[in-house]
Amino acid sequence: MKDHETVPPILIERGEGVYLSDREGNKYLDVISSWWVNLLGHNHPRLNAALSRQLDKVAHVMFAGVTHQPAIDLAERLVALTPDNLKKVFFSDNGSTAVEVAVKMSLQYWQQTGQGSKRKFAHLKGAYHGETLGALSLCGIDMFRDKFEPNLMANVEVQGPDCFRCPYELKPESCQAECFEPMHQTLEKHKESLAGVIVEPLVQGAAGMKMYPPLYLKKLQDACKAHNVHTIYDEIAVGFGRTGSLFVCGEHDLNPTFLCLSKGITSGYLPLAATLTEDEIYSAFYGEFSEMKLFIHSHSYSANPLACAVANESLSILTGDDFLENLKPKIRVLGEYGNKLNALQWCGEFRQTGMIAAVELVANKKTKEEFPFEKRVGYQIYQEGLQRGALMRPLGNVIYFIPPLVISTDQIQMMIDTAYDCIQAVLD
Ligand code: PMP
Repeated sequence: MKDHETVPPILIERGEGVYLSDREGNKYLDVISSWWVNLLGHNHPRLNAALSRQLDKVAHVMFAGVTHQPAIDLAERLVALTPDNLKKVFFSDNGSTAVEVAVKMSLQYWQQTGQGSKRKFAHLKGAYHGETLGALSLCGIDMFRDKFEPNLMANVEVQGPDCFRCPYELKPESCQAECFEPMHQTLEKHKESLAGVIVEPLVQGAAGMKMYPPLYLKKLQDACKAHNVHTIYDEIAVGFGRTGSLFVCGEHDLNPTFLCLSKGITSGYLPLAATLTEDEIYSAFYGEFSEMKLFIHSHSYSANPLACAVANESLSILTGDDFLENLKPKIRVLGEYGNKLNALQWCGEFRQTGMIAAVELVANKKTKEEFPFEKRVGYQIYQEGLQRGALMRPLGNVIYFIPPLVISTDQIQMMIDTAYDCIQAVLD
């Protein structure tokens, strides 16, 4: 709050495509898709039209004993677009709740199938799965959790992949996801008490867009199957095209027990989330009223009709007209042009997965020594960005790019150039 005395919040008045404008008419490129949610640009005519069509019918109705066509359509489409094992959809209203739902379903499944000792979850170091206490109990970033530590559930944190500072000193060409070993050991040791393992597939967003190879996920899937442990994929940030395909699990032929979706589901228009799962999980909740096997979890705005209507339209755009095919040249430009950031003497690494890219700044390129926390390098670059018409929001010393997918190749180059200039202006 003290920061805002000198850097007041920007008063945004309009959005158009990849740009946001403030009250004074200054334009900012939305480099991070307004917290990774906006896929199709601001003020999209088709999304606006879908929203107002639904608005003329019904804006909200509880989602209990009641359903509506936008939710039915969306559930059917999500099932059709995700791996075959995912057959059931549970709607809620934000990313954290999508994770809470998966966690609670997993726990209740084990209870109702006579394996009630399975009450813990394993998560990766650097993991981020939301802010509510359950989701925070799966967080592997101290800053988010340490103030609440005494109130969090006892889970198991596991050292996961760290490709930039790989402790095995492997190169991507020769890596066989050796870093899976700690997870393997955890599964061996805790299999009786583990309900599930949760991961952000391929990219650990809040950790600083840390990226790792799909082989890790394949090993995880095999090991979890062997040890009778659920896999929970949190594709809240990476889903809906960010990595170049609709979902990481589908692209890499992976079958998580639970898939959590939110953020891009409505392309940033309205809060909505979905947790998908298998028939096997569903069947454990099926029974006579007197058995009370039901899953008791409801939110006032679950499956809000306006949100579902926009989500359906957004999905139509993403899955139609070669949308994902047209991302390929953009992904190429983001990688090739983004590579120019490597020339900066503070660039420890430039990394990319699909339409997500990041540059990790270091005080010493050779030793990869980090900038001291108090130097607030990222915050200074953020301020410099505002002066140059780019809204970034660095994570510590990581400057990252996760723009709306509709960004043009020229705009990608401009975005990289601006970041380059900002980094130089602050650190030179
Ligand atoms: N999981 C991941 C991977 C996320 O990136 C986020 C949000 N940054 C969440 C969960 C939580 O989503 P929400 O902010 O909608 O609660």
